[in-house]
Amino acid sequence: MKSANRRVFMMQVALGGTALAAASSASAQAMVNEKDAQAVSLGYAADTTKVDAKKFPKHAAAQKCSNCQLYTGAAGSKAGPCSIFPGKQVAANGWCSAYVKKA
Ligand code: SF4
Repeated sequence: MKSANRRVFMMQVALGGTALAAASSASAQAMVNEKDAQAVSLGYAADTTKVDAKKFPKHAAAQKCSNCQLYTGAAGSKAGPCSIFPGKQVAANGWCSAYVKKA
């Protein structure tokens, strides 16, 4: 292999590895578990229709992570990041008591 070809090959390997690492870190972001201590304390539910109405009387069915101010997932995505749960993803149809209606 000529040295120019080898250099191009090595660059392709390096770029491919970077792309794979980026893809795997994005997909590796875990979902918030409803049983995690912080999730329990905030009454997080992955399904807004399953929120305990007695515990959270101000909750409304229309409130969900996807229309919360703190949700930064892409429109139409099933899950996305929330600043309340750093490093994890919340369900777009989830809810917690820190809900703030998106402006
Ligand atoms: S703060 Fe908002 S986006 Fe985050 S879990 Fe609670 S309702 Fe969902």
